[in-house]
Amino acid sequence: MKKKPVFLGLLCLLAVAVQAQQNRPNILIILSDDHAQQTISAYGSKLAQTPNIDRIAKEGAIFNNSFVTNSICAPSRAVLLTGKYSHLNGLKDNSAQRRFDGSQQQVQKLLAAAHYQSAWIGKWHLQSLPQGFDFWKILPDQGNYFQPDFINMPNDTVRYKGYVTNLISDYSINWLNKRDVSSPFFLVIGEKATHRNWMPDIQDLGAYDDQDFPLPANFYDAYTNRKAAANQDMTIDKTMVLKSDLKVRPDFQEKGLFGRLNAEEKQAYQQYYEKIAKEYDAVKNDSVKLVKWKYERYLKDYLATAKSLDRNIGRILKYLDSTGLAKNTVVIYTSDQGFYMGEHGWFDKRFMYEESLRTPFVMRYPGMIKPGTVVNKMIVNLDIAPSVLELAKLPVPADLQGSSLVPLLGKAPLVKAWRRSLYYHYYEYPEPHRVAPHFGIRTEQYKLIRFYGPHDDWELFDIKKDPHEMVNLSKQKEYKPQIDKLTKELRGLIEKYKDTEALQILDHEKN
Ligand code: CA
Repeated sequence: MKKKPVFLGLLCLLAVAVQAQQNRPNILIILSDDHAQQTISAYGSKLAQTPNIDRIAKEGAIFNNSFVTNSICAPSRAVLLTGKYSHLNGLKDNSAQRRFDGSQQQVQKLLAAAHYQSAWIGKWHLQSLPQGFDFWKILPDQGNYFQPDFINMPNDTVRYKGYVTNLISDYSINWLNKRDVSSPFFLVIGEKATHRNWMPDIQDLGAYDDQDFPLPANFYDAYTNRKAAANQDMTIDKTMVLKSDLKVRPDFQEKGLFGRLNAEEKQAYQQYYEKIAKEYDAVKNDSVKLVKWKYERYLKDYLATAKSLDRNIGRILKYLDSTGLAKNTVVIYTSDQGFYMGEHGWFDKRFMYEESLRTPFVMRYPGMIKPGTVVNKMIVNLDIAPSVLELAKLPVPADLQGSSLVPLLGKAPLVKAWRRSLYYHYYEYPEPHRVAPHFGIRTEQYKLIRFYGPHDDWELFDIKKDPHEMVNLSKQKEYKPQIDKLTKELRGLIEKYKDTEALQILDHEKN
């Protein structure tokens, strides 16, 4: 009889534990690749309709000022997993010899403390195999659009039949169906779309052919007073490859690209792109017409590839609805970074200019976020890991460098002090696009960038007055006080985030 209070106490504790477990939401992150904010209708794009991404924003929150810390594929994924800048998580660029150190602390390992079941399915790109997930099924490196290989646990590469975006959804739904329903899940769906070379699913070939795409206002940028911009190799005009990117008489033997199409797909591609080759022949000797044609072809293939991405996001949302999971599942849609859709004459990313610094970010969680919430504060991809941990009711380790987004949500936002400036550092040079390494600071009004290495330079933009970042103000005397103030703030951020390499560059300049 004396044991009864102890027994009841244990029962209470157990009940509390079960309650806490039940209150922990499922967390689903759909992480696409190179998907530009400028092409998403929730962000006001007129280029395309993205009804399913828009649905997440409508039923939850849209973050209008969402950025990355290093605008390139693999490093962005490492930031998501670790909540740390590239110089601390070790993955600064995409080079194949640089492998992510999976033994370090990562969000999925921390979630295990609350018994989350975790999985990463799709594009991974970190060279080393995932660690700390209960399940993974990943594309090797960039992966392929058709008949893609996947690496299965523990390390078995198998080729599958089908289109990559559809397969990634199939495998994600399969895992969700098979999981142990007694504990919450953390799933990252890693999309290959909309990465180069933008190969649409058969049903989406020509989806945008009836639409005209006017050139962006700064398409013919002369890069005046911007050395790094002048020396890049990522223009639609000169860098895009005729056969693979623009698909003019594509090589159907080309390993990894068109060589992967099955007979039926090959026929559909041949038929569609034969017409494109004729269009090319009609403009190829007129440089003005040709560049405009290249731009239109790029947008049409990119947006058609994104159409399948959005449709598959819809499939996942429907699955959550039909299983009753939607209510207690946090859904985040984001990309590893933004992309140029002809601004400055470019495709690709890397630069700290707005189009590639930005990334889409929408989030739904019915239990917390009021439908139609708009967040204008500046967020960065460093914030994802601490947000996931707070949503899972877990402590956020002190060495994570971002801030949880939870205080920005809810009916009455709790946030008092939020970042007024963000820090960025890009490294990969020279290949593949000859974008000089640089670091910098962005505030709500200004952006100050320090390029180093081959094109040593400073750039300052007033992004409120000059949102397309065409006028470098760094040499203008009247901006000296502003530059001094921003340089001081930049140094403060570099010290805060412990970027010793950037600090040395600043110190060297001072001396
Ligand atoms: Ca990317």
